Amino acid sequence: MTNKESLQRHLLQLDNRGYKAYKDIKGNYDFSEFTLIIDYVQGDPFASPSKFRVIVSPNIAQIPRELFNSRSREIALQDYLTRQFDKAAHSISSKRGTGKSGLIAVTGFGQEVLERTSAFIISSTASDIEDLGGVELRFVVGLPAGGRSILGRQAAEMLCEDIPQIVSQSLKYSSLNAAECRRHVETVEDADWLRKHLAEKGLVAFVADGSILPRRSGVDNSPLLNNAVAFQSPPSLKVDFNCPNRGLISGMGIPAGITLIVGGGYHGKSTLLMAIELGVYNRIPGDGREFVVTNPAAVKIRAEDGRSVAGVDISPFINQLPQGRDTAQFYSENASGSTSQAANIIEALEVGRRKFGNEQCTGFNGCQSDGSRKKEEGRGNEEQERRKKEQDLVPVLLIDEDTAATNFMIRDRRMQALIAKDKEPITPFIDKVKQLYADYGVSTILVMGGSGDYFDVVDTVISMDNFEAYNVTEKAKEIAKNYSTSRAAEGGETFGEITQRVPIPASLDPSRGRRDVRVKVRDVDELAFGTEEIDLGAVEQIVDSGQLRAIAAAMVYAKQQYMDGKRTLSEIIDLVMADIDAQGMDILSPFPEGDFAMFRRFELAAAINRLRSLSVDS
Ligand code: ADP
Ligand code: MG
Repeated sequence: MTNKESLQRHLLQLDNRGYKAYKDIKGNYDFSEFTLIIDYVQGDPFASPSKFRVIVSPNIAQIPRELFNSRSREIALQDYLTRQFDKAAHSISSKRGTGKSGLIAVTGFGQEVLERTSAFIISSTASDIEDLGGVELRFVVGLPAGGRSILGRQAAEMLCEDIPQIVSQSLKYSSLNAAECRRHVETVEDADWLRKHLAEKGLVAFVADGSILPRRSGVDNSPLLNNAVAFQSPPSLKVDFNCPNRGLISGMGIPAGITLIVGGGYHGKSTLLMAIELGVYNRIPGDGREFVVTNPAAVKIRAEDGRSVAGVDISPFINQLPQGRDTAQFYSENASGSTSQAANIIEALEVGRRKFGNEQCTGFNGCQSDGSRKKEEGRGNEEQERRKKEQDLVPVLLIDEDTAATNFMIRDRRMQALIAKDKEPITPFIDKVKQLYADYGVSTILVMGGSGDYFDVVDTVISMDNFEAYNVTEKAKEIAKNYSTSRAAEGGETFGEITQRVPIPASLDPSRGRRDVRVKVRDVDELAFGTEEIDLGAVEQIVDSGQLRAIAAAMVYAKQQYMDGKRTLSEIIDLVMADIDAQGMDILSPFPEGDFAMFRRFELAAAINRLRSLSVDS
């Protein structure tokens, strides 16, 4: 390994040469306080920037082990260091020429604390430093050029002066704000702890008292500053948790089952549901929603007319379409509001699990039956963990009237009288929501200000009034008794089967032109996969472009490793997620990527399901 001084000399020698000569600097350099690794050098100043890493050893970084001694803490610390490095890079780096010249940056991030490939904690087993952690940090650099020739002196400054300064400001514990760092780690650990303990209190979501739910604007996810009404639980829904760090936290618990959020227009219903929907992720301290936590398998469901659907069995909801179209294997290039919403629900159930009795979970329809489970001595903990993980995959559906198809949600008495059941293909959600919970353990949280018909089928009714929550369950039940809707229930006794699909490998093709793999991500809602554009604008729980980048890579990985024309989509996703769980997101790419962020199985499935080329066997 060469050192910093020789890199410096080398860069000065490259001054004024053609940009391609930069390729020579790929390699590892000893900077005494850290190792600088140049993994990839860009081809010209306008191309994607070069990929760098620094490795700071435990005896230099000196991060106390208590800040990363649990998985939650480790992920939070990695997130914190990524943000600190970004902040330092931002203040120190500057534009130094054409194109991306001068850029030093880490991956983008928002309010969420996600597992990322931008930073890794390095722990040591050497006895003198076993209580300390080091860090690997991945970032990008725009190697400087004037026109297309190398600016050697500028490059030497960037790499040999700026980078060491950034490292020293952001990756050494002694220069960090210890209290802030601790708060970051403890907040995330508490949120994870809360999420883990929801189920044992029979809850699917929790909104802490004092939470600030509204956002600054439709394009700014930071908390609303002025006139925000802090959340307060109605007394009858209040639950307490004793968190490991913060201690007692109280707030509103939303029980499993069917919950309705009602209230006048503009009274805060959607804002509450949005906070719940994103409560599957952790947030940074100060976000306002850091203690709004939701069952990890909560999936936002909406109507998405125009999406493509590939062989989904939507027959629990839709039957007898005009022209005899098959709904047990429904294909559409251009789904309607109601059929797209039905497909969105069934697809979530397809990759989720079902719940039996109190705790046992199995795959829907045949996949991974629990029947053969061995009861070995001494494996209690492992078994419990496994069951817990399965439990975490029973979906919870979140639906907002603002983005739902009305004819999918309700069909009232008068419409039943006018349009006979055999002329209406749709069995509305209102007639299936109870069966969904009874048969599969799938809870629903529904925002609905426009129809009281749901009072008949719900367990809990929360009303939002001037941004304050009230428990109006009793009142709603009484109204339901006094004013019968006289509707005929149309849903039958059971929900119906969830049919598993087997993706046909050839229908997922990431190649384009001469390249075997060509995937490209734009923001959080567009993914170019081979020659196709996948529109993910309606998949609201992809919140970070790093997630979408990782999803794109996971689709390629799934295709290469596991799609064999026999495995079901759900089995394939199980295998991919298990690999990532065991070996990290680095398995998704041939060389170290710094800009992947962890995603859920539901969003990976959502991306695959929206491929217009997808075809399946079932
Ligand atoms: P609804 O779905 O009931 O029609 P929204 O949730 O869309 O209402 O909220 C309407 C507006 O009120 C939004 O601009 C939102 O940001 C704001 N808002 C929501 N909750 C609060 C709150 N707790 N304090 C202040 N403003 C809020
Ligand atoms: Mg609304």
